Amino acid sequence: MNECRLVGDDIGYCGLPFAGRKVAVVRWYYDPLPTNCVADWVCAGGTGAGYPRFAHRKGPEFGYKNLAVFYGACTFNCLFCQNWHYRWDRMSGAKASAKDLVHAVDARTSCICFFGGDPTPQLPHALDAAREAVERAQGAGRILRICFETNGTMHPQLAERMMDLSLASGGCVKFDLKAWSEPVHIALTGVTNTRTLENFARLARRISERPDPPPLVASTLLVPGYVDEEEVRALARFIASLDRTIPYRLLAFHPAFYLSDLPTTSRQHAARCYRAAREAGLERVSIGNLHLLREDAY
Ligand code: SF4
Ligand code: SF4
Repeated sequence: MNECRLVGDDIGYCGLPFAGRKVAVVRWYYDPLPTNCVADWVCAGGTGAGYPRFAHRKGPEFGYKNLAVFYGACTFNCLFCQNWHYRWDRMSGAKASAKDLVHAVDARTSCICFFGGDPTPQLPHALDAAREAVERAQGAGRILRICFETNGTMHPQLAERMMDLSLASGGCVKFDLKAWSEPVHIALTGVTNTRTLENFARLARRISERPDPPPLVASTLLVPGYVDEEEVRALARFIASLDRTIPYRLLAFHPAFYLSDLPTTSRQHAARCYRAAREAGLERVSIGNLHLLREDAY
């Protein structure tokens, strides 16, 4: 994504000295379902959408769990990174193969979410693990949804492979759209948003292959002073121009990393962004992290 050229002991922009396939800087843990996934308000694990083919229950999938797979690298370097401590993972040198990961999937695991950091820099590893895990689960007649939560900067061919797996398994691809304006995006993440928006548009073309549960979901973090209703309106217009049914989650901001001196998102800010997204034509908009919203206007 960032066209790094590594020589000797160099590390790339994402912090990796190598582009791993056999092993990756990755760790994982279980989350009981329903979990606080960015897509939990529309996905099979959170709502039972796609039951009985893709979900065990008609509602939230109590009794089952999500395997959360956390990759320790990212192609962005966001000032507000909420998971900034992934940088310690790569320094610890902990690595695992795709097979190690597959062995973590048991009979009560009904979905895998590949996130981080971001799965992008080590995506071949994630795709290998996902493919094998799905084959095993389907061979045993079990549901296993494959989901990705990403900044969307992977090679377009890899984006298509993610979508292949999510479509076939009942999962979804969740894109974080950080900002519409490129200068704002570069200021916040260090990187252009061109690849992200192109990949999002590319994957939106495949929604009709399996519209329920929704295979593509968008989210935006409402960073006070940076991501206002005009940013959200422009992003929402872009999403609606592709498909008005794409679910769009607006997330309240929590101060972290280099933006630890900002307040959380205000109710007024979130309400303005919600209205802007609806006015842009999107049918499914929601606000996440409600507990973080504060009263006073920013
Ligand atoms: S990993 Fe997928 S199916 Fe499971 S809770 Fe998250 S979005 Fe829903
Ligand atoms: S894309 Fe996500 S993980 Fe990567 S730097 Fe930004 S907030 Fe952190």
